[in-house]
Amino acid sequence: MSVCSINQWQLSAPVTLTLCLCVGVILLARWVSRQQVFPGRNSFVLLQLTVLWWMGAAALEMAAEVPDCKVFWAQMAWPGIVGVPTFWAVFLWQYVNSSQRALRAGNIALLLVGPLLIWLLALSNPLHQLFYGPATQPISAEQGAPIRYDHGVLFMAAAVYVYALMLFCLWVVLRAAWFSEGVHRRHYLAFVMVTCVPWSANISYVVFGVTLFGFDPTPFCFAFTVVAFAWLILGVRLFDLLPVARHLLVEVLPDPVLVVDGQGRVVEANPVALQLAGLHRAWKGLPLQHWPVFGEPLSQAVGSAGEPQEQLDLACGEAFFEVRLRNIERPGKGGMQRLGQMIYLRDVTARHQSEVNLAAALALSEERLSTISELHEQLREQALHDPLTGLYNRRYLGEFFEREQSRALRDRLPLALALIDLDHFKLLNDSHGHLAGDEVLRAVAEHLEMNLRSTDAVFRIGGEEFLLILPGVDAAEACQRVESLREQLASVRLPTRAGPLQVTLSAGLALWPQHGHALDELLQAADAALYEAKHAGRNRSVLATQ
Ligand code: GH3
Ligand code: MG
Ligand code: MG
Repeated sequence: MSVCSINQWQLSAPVTLTLCLCVGVILLARWVSRQQVFPGRNSFVLLQLTVLWWMGAAALEMAAEVPDCKVFWAQMAWPGIVGVPTFWAVFLWQYVNSSQRALRAGNIALLLVGPLLIWLLALSNPLHQLFYGPATQPISAEQGAPIRYDHGVLFMAAAVYVYALMLFCLWVVLRAAWFSEGVHRRHYLAFVMVTCVPWSANISYVVFGVTLFGFDPTPFCFAFTVVAFAWLILGVRLFDLLPVARHLLVEVLPDPVLVVDGQGRVVEANPVALQLAGLHRAWKGLPLQHWPVFGEPLSQAVGSAGEPQEQLDLACGEAFFEVRLRNIERPGKGGMQRLGQMIYLRDVTARHQSEVNLAAALALSEERLSTISELHEQLREQALHDPLTGLYNRRYLGEFFEREQSRALRDRLPLALALIDLDHFKLLNDSHGHLAGDEVLRAVAEHLEMNLRSTDAVFRIGGEEFLLILPGVDAAEACQRVESLREQLASVRLPTRAGPLQVTLSAGLALWPQHGHALDELLQAADAALYEAKHAGRNRSVLATQ
C-alpha cells in the first residue's frame, strides 16, 4: 500500500461508471441470494463477489494516478481474475447437474488455493518481476495514463490456468446443450452464448489489445454475464419444478396440444400434435391455419368459439376430436391481457364411432318398431273386419256397442238395433252358385254402408246376416230407415257373374233400453222380431214387441 500513500486519485467518468457497475453487482448478488433456491446458487453469489472484486480493483487502478499504484491494484485484482472462472466453473457444473448441495468448507478452501497462490505471486512481483516484467510502464507521459503490461512467465502460467477453467466452463455448457432437447437445449445454448461474451472480450484484449477505458474489458463483460445468467435462471424460471413437470406432462400426453400466440401462430406443439400434422421441422411460428391436416378446420373452430372455455368438435379425416381452449393471460393495464391460447385436442374417434353406431341401431330399431306397430294395427283391423265384405265383424261388435251405450246413457238418447237376414239365400246360392252368392253379399254390404250416417255402424254377424246399430234413433225413425233400406234393395238388380240378381231382406228391430239393456238381450229381441218378419212372408221389417 506504501506505493499508493502518496497517490492522487482521479474520479473520471469510466471510474464512476465502473463503481456504479460494482454497486449494480452488489445489488444483484443481494437479490439473487434472496431468490428461490436453484442449483449452484451459492457458487453463483461467490462468482458475483469475485466479479465485484475484479471490477473494484479495476476501478481503483483506473482512478490511481501514480503508475506504481496502478500496478499495485492490477496485482490486487488477481484473486478476482482467477476467482471468477473458478466459481463460474463450479456454478455451471452444479447447475447443469442439478446439484442442490452447498459447497463444503474443505472444497471452498481447495478452490481458493489457485486464486490465492496466483495473488501471492502477483503481489511478490517486485521481488522477481516474473509476473509483470521490467517493461511494464504507462503508455504515455500523461498523468494517470493506463499501464502497458509486460507479461512475464508467471502471468502466462496464470493465464493458462484461467483459460483451462474457462474451457472447462465452455465444455460443461456445450455438453449440457448436446444432451438436452427442445426448450432445455435452447436454454443451454443461451448459456453457451453468454459464456462466449467474456471469452471473446478476453481474447480481443490479450491478442488484439482491445481495451475499454484503456483497460481489460473482461471484467465488464463478466458483469454482463452474471446479469444475463441471473435473468436466464430466475427470470425464465425454466428449471423450476412445476414448469418442467408441466412441460413434461404436455410432452407425454397422448393427445395433441398446441400453444398459439396472439397473432394465431403456433409457438409450441407436443410430439403427438406434430405427428398428427406430419410436421418435423420449421413449424414454429407457422400460422395455425397453415398447419397441415387440421389447421384449417381448427383455426375456423377456434375463431368461431365465443367463450374461451367453450368445447368444440373437430372432424379431421376419419378422426374426431373434442377441442378445448384455454386463454393464456397475464394481468395488464385495464384487466387481464390475452397472450395466446392453449388448444387441447382429445381424440374421441372411438366414442364418436360408437355414437354413430348407436344412432344407426336406434334408427333401425325405431323403424322396426314402427313397422311392428303398423303390422299390429293392420292385424287388428283385419281381426275386426270381415274379409269378404270389409264390414266390421262380431269381434268388434261388443266394444262398439258398449261405447255407444255409454254415450247414449250420458246424452240420454235412444239406440236402435236392426238384425237383417237375406231371404231365401240358400236358394240363390243353389241356383246361381256360391261365388255369385258372395258377390251378392258384397253388393248388399255396400248398399247398407252407403245408406248409413257417419254415426251408424253395420256388422256382418253371420253368413248372410247383418246387424245395424243406429245411435240416437228412436223406434219410428228406425222403422222408417230400415224400411227405406229394404225397399231400395228390393228395387235394384245386383250385378253378379250370373247376371243381375234381385235379393230381398227381412229385418227385426229392437230398441235400447226398451227391449233390453245388454247386447244379448237386444239381439234376442231383434232375432224374435226377425223370425216374425220371416214368418209373415219375408221382405219386411218388424219391431220387437215389449
Ligand atoms: P231364409 O229366407 O229363411 O233366411 O232362407 P235362407 O235360405 O236364407 O236360409 P238361411 O238363412 O238359413 O240360409 C243361409 C244360407 O246362406 C246358407 C248358406 O248356403 C248361405 N251362406 C252362408 N254364408 C255364406 C257365404 O259366405 N257365401 C255364400 N255364397 N253363401 C253363404
Ligand atoms: Mg240366415
Ligand atoms: Mg236367410
